[in-house]
Amino acid sequence: MPSPLHLYPMVFACFLGGHLLILGAVTVLHRAFTGAAPRLRADARGLRYLLEFVGAEALMLTAALQLGVVRLAPFSAPRTLATLALGFVWWEFWFYFGHRLLHTRWLYPLHRPHHATPGVHPSLAFGALETVALSSGFYLPLALASHRFHAVSVETLALVFSLAYALNVVSHLDAARLAPRLAATPWRHLLGSPRRHAQHHAGRRGNYGLNSPWPDRLFGTALDAPGSVPR
Ligand SMILES: [Zn+2]
Ligand SMILES: [Zn+2]
Repeated sequence: MPSPLHLYPMVFACFLGGHLLILGAVTVLHRAFTGAAPRLRADARGLRYLLEFVGAEALMLTAALQLGVVRLAPFSAPRTLATLALGFVWWEFWFYFGHRLLHTRWLYPLHRPHHATPGVHPSLAFGALETVALSSGFYLPLALASHRFHAVSVETLALVFSLAYALNVVSHLDAARLAPRLAATPWRHLLGSPRRHAQHHAGRRGNYGLNSPWPDRLFGTALDAPGSVPR
């Protein structure tokens, strides 16, 4: 294992390069479907939060590898798939409760940049502390999978963080613009997440889950569920 001073820049470069590649791919797809790029502006504030987001993610992964919280093993496709599937279920509930807590009076200052940064695609606007609070949720399943089942390799980590970021970007796409284009195609099923999250960003209290509707439906905070009472 390289020293932290060597490992951190490597991990940082991988996160930054990976995120920019995913963002580029989503921008191309969005333009193909709607004729316009998603709302993304590289202004100073957006750049600051991008660096805070990637910097905090890289710091946490470097620390997890150095401290042995995550121990790397050779790649195994079945174990990686199991880690991704079970980790996804865990993440959905971790994000739901973490996000709901971030909307309390005391913690909202950490979350405000994500809702208030103007002119920047919101998926890039995460402060360092908010990133630490939410992304720490990755490390319990990763620690368990790596120590008990030798299921975490470099490839597993790349897939976990790339898929998480890709889903995050998809949740922040402009659903209103995409909907008419996708309505007649099988891709319309992918609109649920951006639609729900757009309602949350519009200022309504509810829809705290990110990718799937189940946590909000289970705990009565779904804005689109008939009879639900968001709180
Ligand atoms: Zn929020
Ligand atoms: Zn958001």
